[in-house]
This record gives sequence, structure tokens and C-alpha cells, in this order.
Amino acid sequence: MFELSTLYAAFERYFGHPPTRIARAPGRVNLIGEHTDYNDGFVFPMALDRATYVAARPRADRIVRVFSVKFREEDQFNLDQIVRDEQRQWVNYIRGVAKGLLARDLPLRGADLLIDSDVPAGSGLSSSAALEVAVGYTFQLLNNINLLGEELALLAQGAEHSFVGVKCGIMDQLIAALGEAGHALLIDCRDLSYRPVPIPAHVRVVVCDSGVRHRLAGSEYNQRRAGCEEAVRLLKPVLGKIQALRDVRLTDLAEYGHLLPPDLLPLARHVVSENERTLAAADALAAGDVVKMGQLMVESHHSLRDDYRVSVPELDTLVELALAAPGCYGSRMTGGGFGGSTVSLVAADRVDEFVAAMIAGYAIRTGRTMQPLVCTAGAGVSCVYASEEE
Ligand code: ADP
Ligand code: MG
Repeated sequence: MFELSTLYAAFERYFGHPPTRIARAPGRVNLIGEHTDYNDGFVFPMALDRATYVAARPRADRIVRVFSVKFREEDQFNLDQIVRDEQRQWVNYIRGVAKGLLARDLPLRGADLLIDSDVPAGSGLSSSAALEVAVGYTFQLLNNINLLGEELALLAQGAEHSFVGVKCGIMDQLIAALGEAGHALLIDCRDLSYRPVPIPAHVRVVVCDSGVRHRLAGSEYNQRRAGCEEAVRLLKPVLGKIQALRDVRLTDLAEYGHLLPPDLLPLARHVVSENERTLAAADALAAGDVVKMGQLMVESHHSLRDDYRVSVPELDTLVELALAAPGCYGSRMTGGGFGGSTVSLVAADRVDEFVAAMIAGYAIRTGRTMQPLVCTAGAGVSCVYASEEE
């Protein structure tokens, strides 16, 4: 557990006065629903019990000073002239959020901010959305601004698009803003509606980072995206008013799949079947059927590996090891693929054995050290400390 008193003391030491607010926003893991977001489909993420924390105090001037504990570095900018920093990427998440609030004509005061996190960065647990949402919420608290969770998520996504230059979907920011403790969130990426689904107390979600990151991930991603759009274009003449693969059924593919070139049919099949699996998974979990949920996760992995072709041998190995390990209901790669992590559903009372088996198995099979993260579903963004003074 993150120590708030340590963060409070670090702020006081660095800035010479205590913080007036501390906010936190969680990282996330997607349980199922991969490569469906940009096809107007469904995703099913869970907020983690790990978060990014921002301790803050308003200033009388227009200056924002930000100290990142992770980077041991300070950024300083003026609210009246916010520009991208070409050298240091991390500062752009904060600057982008401030700029987005000002662009909405919301009044901001300067602030001292200190940021720390126990969300591992770059592991696919969306430390970036946790940072954006935590910072956005902090500015809200300091300036008495009221934004709905959806608006905060869109503000955070906008910062990542325009200031960081990553064209991410909305899932990460939505779950960071709207997650509920003990629940996963079924999100409809077409209209951003969502449904919280309780996660049974007798299971744990375990994230295993393969340690692999492929350079080609970006271009492969764009290629898959373009393939999905092309499939929609080719199916439109026979299916009528479809806007995205979200509108296509498996029965449609059985009838008209021959209209797609051989490389596009499996892509479409993954997206269409993944949407159906994601809806089925939410129903299974809601009914407490963790066995069914686990099966759907394994089917999702096979579809990502064989049809969408975004897995790598290390992810396949992690899934294979998980399915043979004690207490595991299901396992799959999570995130865009070409490296990154797997997510496994594990019986709570077997989780220590599971973790030990994964560490040993992965070391033997790949020579790599790997430390699984055992997670429960945390809450969305919140204020965890408010002083009496303004
Ligand atoms: P992911 O979101 O999967 O963790 P990203 O590459 O999207 O990976 O985001 C990681 C980046 O977010 C880091 O390189 C850094 O720029 C920024 N970041 C994350 N956590 C922090 C933090 N605690 N302090 C400062 N910057 C952070
Ligand atoms: Mg990210």
C-alpha cells in the first residue's frame, strides 16, 4: 500500500509548505475486449489497486511547479504560455491537461504539485492515463471546478493526443476516472456508456509482464486498424448500414466472408468474435461464473494469436504456464500485443502457489526474471486528503 504520510512529507520537504490536497487515479488492466475499441466495440477493464498520486497546493501566481519523484526532476511552466516540451515527455502529460482545462475556459490558479506512483510505467498498465486523470482531478480540486467523470476522461485523452502525440482510445482514461472498487467496467466504445460488474471476492487478477517490447508495435497496430476499416468498406455493399466491425455478426461473416481477401477475414473474425466474448464475459462475471469467464479469456488469447496475429512467443508461454499453474481459471495477453503483459484470473486461496509457479516457469522457459502483480479492483479517481485550509 502506498504511504500517504511519506508523500505528504516529501511535498513539505520539497516545497517548504504542506499540501492542501492529495488526489489519486488508478492504473488498469483490460480483462477482455482487445483491439475492439477502435472498432466501436466493447472493452472490459478493471481499475487496479495501484495508483498515481498527486499532492498539491495552490499558488498565488500563474506558475505551476511539478516535481516527479519517479524522474527526480522538476518542471515549471506558466499557465499563460503552455507549450510542448520536446526533450522531456513526462512533463507533457501535465502541461497538456492544464492546457485542456484552460481551453474549456475553466479558471486555473498556479500550483505546486508532487507526483509519485506505484503503477509500473510502460508495462501496459496505463500509468499515463493514471497520471493525466490524477492531474486533471487535482486541478479540479484546487480550483473548485466540477467535471463529470466522462469529461475528465475526455480531457485526459485530449492531452495524450495533442501534447504527448499518442492517439490512444478512451478506455484507459474512462476506467481511471470511473472505476469502482471491487468491480470491472464493461464499456461500450461507441457511445461511452458503461456498466460496473462485480468481481467475485474469491478471485484475484494477476498481471505478468513478459519483459518484451517490440519496436514494430506502432506500425503493426496501424496496419491492423487500416485492415478493419477496409473490411467494413468491403462488407458495406452487402450488409447495408454498417459503420464499424461492431455492427457485423459472426453469421454475417459466414455468409459474406468470401468477399474479404484472405488476410482480412481473420482480422474481422477476431474483432467480431471478441465483441461477443466480451459481452459474454461481463454476463459470466456478473453471474459469478469464473470458470466461464476464464474460458472466454483463453479463447480471446487464441483469437489474438491466430486470427489477429498480435501475440509473441513470450506471451504465449506466459499463457501456457498460467493455464498449467495452480488455481488458474483463464489467461490471455492484454493490451495491444507485440510484447507487454498477460492477465490471469486466479483463485484467491491459490494465488501464492500460482505466483511461484509463474516465476519459476518463466525463468526456466525463457531465462527471464518476472515478478507477477497480484491485483484487486481499485476505485477510480478520488481525493484522499484535504486539509482544513483552502
Ligand atoms: P503505460 O501507460 O502503459 O504505462 P506509456 O508509455 O503510455 O505506458 O506511459 C508511460 C509514460 O508516462 C512515462 O514514460 C512517463 O512519461 C509518464 N509517467 C508515468 N508515470 C509517471 C510518473 N509517476 N511521473 C512522471 N511521469 C510519469
Ligand atoms: Mg499509456
